Amino acid sequence: MTTSARKLFVTTALPYANGNFHIGHIMEYIQADIWVRYQRMQGHAVNFVGADDTHGAPIMIAAEKAGKTPQQFVADIAAGRKQYLDGFHISFDNWHSTDAPENHELARQIYRDLRDRADGGLIEVRTIEQFFDPEKNMFLPDRYIKGECPKCHAKDQYGDNCEVCGTVYAPTDLINPFSALSGAKPELKNSEHFFFKLSDPRCVEFLENWTQDGKLQPEVANKIKEWFTVRTNPDGTTSEGLGDWDISRDAPYFGIEIPDAPGKYFYVWLDAPVGYLASLKNLLEKRGESYDAYMADPAMEQYHFIGKDIVTFHTLFWPAMLHFSGRKTPNNVFVHGFLTVNNGEKMSKSRGTGLDPLKYLSLNMNAEWLRYYLAAKLSARNEDIDFNAEDFMLRVNSDLIGKYVNIASRAAGFLTKRFDGKLTDQFGTTGAALLAEVRGASDAIAQMYETREYSKATREIMLLADKVNAYVDQNKPWDLAKDAANNEALHQVCSVLVNAFATLTRYLAPVLPGLAQAVQGFVGVNMQQWNAAGDVQAIQPYQHLMQRVTPEQLEALFEPPAQAEQAPAATETVAANSHPGGEELAPTITIDDFTKIDLRIALIVNCEPVEGSTKLLRLTLDVGEGRTRNVFSGIASAYKPEDLVGKHTVMVANLAPRKMKFGVSEGMVLAASHGDEKANPGIYVLNPWPGATPGMRVR
Ligand SMILES: [Zn+2]
Repeated sequence: MTTSARKLFVTTALPYANGNFHIGHIMEYIQADIWVRYQRMQGHAVNFVGADDTHGAPIMIAAEKAGKTPQQFVADIAAGRKQYLDGFHISFDNWHSTDAPENHELARQIYRDLRDRADGGLIEVRTIEQFFDPEKNMFLPDRYIKGECPKCHAKDQYGDNCEVCGTVYAPTDLINPFSALSGAKPELKNSEHFFFKLSDPRCVEFLENWTQDGKLQPEVANKIKEWFTVRTNPDGTTSEGLGDWDISRDAPYFGIEIPDAPGKYFYVWLDAPVGYLASLKNLLEKRGESYDAYMADPAMEQYHFIGKDIVTFHTLFWPAMLHFSGRKTPNNVFVHGFLTVNNGEKMSKSRGTGLDPLKYLSLNMNAEWLRYYLAAKLSARNEDIDFNAEDFMLRVNSDLIGKYVNIASRAAGFLTKRFDGKLTDQFGTTGAALLAEVRGASDAIAQMYETREYSKATREIMLLADKVNAYVDQNKPWDLAKDAANNEALHQVCSVLVNAFATLTRYLAPVLPGLAQAVQGFVGVNMQQWNAAGDVQAIQPYQHLMQRVTPEQLEALFEPPAQAEQAPAATETVAANSHPGGEELAPTITIDDFTKIDLRIALIVNCEPVEGSTKLLRLTLDVGEGRTRNVFSGIASAYKPEDLVGKHTVMVANLAPRKMKFGVSEGMVLAASHGDEKANPGIYVLNPWPGATPGMRVR
């Protein structure tokens, strides 16, 4: 690895300050944080900064609705950030705001530098026609103009595109437009706007080179390439090459006033990325260091982690702004895809399918489970990944607990009880070979972190853990411990295990910083340096390092909020109601009666509509018998076939087969419904907690 320390300036995208963090933000922060922690372990000097993106019409309008000044509104949002960042172990060196003085000053200076270039400025003023709300006395952004779609005539459509037919148009194309803020009929008015001349040959030449010189991810560079040949205009037509960028908005606007242009403000996307520099400047000045000197150092490397939805801003506008204002451009921009939850199910708060990061923490779920799970899925590519509850539990419990933590727990007890916690440096032939292999993977795993191939890194680490566990099974310390004659062998085996565990922990430290710290206390060797050398000499008594994920936690995490609120009321109703769910309880049975019914977990392998029936669905079920069963179920009113495929449910597996009009039904799927279906419609198929597998008996 490198011997001289690198100087790294790293950012994540700035979150818009109109709401709390969602799981997508947390994923990006974790991705960047793992990289930053790895770099710090290599001894490199990292400044890792973030900030709130505070300007623009949506925040101005949201603040007005909330009865706050925009400044107060964004300050209240900022106050809520810390609990997320601390909770998920995100190690930002600074968190700032784009409304801070540093950002006002930097944005205005960058603009002046672009405007006043000796070889011809890149700012141009043009008069454009725009909708104006006469009641609010302001120009309206596209999203605040509504009206009838010019194509399909759907009412109440936004000014940029129709949500019914998908047509893209200009706000001026809308029929009977109105202001979404006041309801007033907007007037067309002329206004002077400031443009950044991205179509200037100097910009085009620079950007073609900057985006295509091999630094960007190939899939990202290829997409950008298209933008140099053709672009889509707001009215849906296309033009050749890069278009100029409208960087101004008229007052009233919450933002930064443009120099020498009273009443004109920078469009929020002009000053948002400048916030990276502002946060860095704020950090360095707090430390008494010079921002100018830091930025002037040619060895300094600048990296931005961003999502795929803001590539244009970061690979065209931002490098052009920096370069043509005489500043250093980013060394790279690392683009990630979106995070979906439970097989891309639409994130919806009311249905409770989203993953609320704060709820995750409030359930005392370990932040490092999520860090590990995301690391195990993230690669250097710009691709979407999915959080799947069952997969999450399996991965954490089998990898982290089953393969990794268990190594320590299996060896530590013997060392503490038999050897006073002291280790031997005699490892035996196979033990020494195993340790050499585990330690020898250091450079390869380091390279995987460096290139953001975290899924490869975690896979490699778990392969090593598998080898350590195979060594445990070969040497069986629990058998050795039975006979005092084997004391030396036992000491050797347990010492190998704890040393291997220490090395694996160091490899996982960028992902599991909290756990690594606990292990450092346990084994007494440095976990903050990637190449820290030296054997473990002695251990402290073993403390539980990590709990398993439980199905109950996942159940609670994805429980819809509405149900949680209704639950107490429902219990009260049931207590006083002799007809729970709309029907009397059936007569008492004995346990023997119950055990006659064989209930099994079934996987819904396939599901399709039944021709000629509006009530039935045809289910293909796997009950672990090595064949599938055909079952008809009267649930077509409640579920689409594709909703059910791949889900687990519960079936009566020993019900006599029944011949029906559409074929033979070989069992029955369990579902809940109210006794009075007309008054309380709804059918709810039973779904076991994650972890249940086909064929398991329900008792
Ligand atoms: Zn339409």
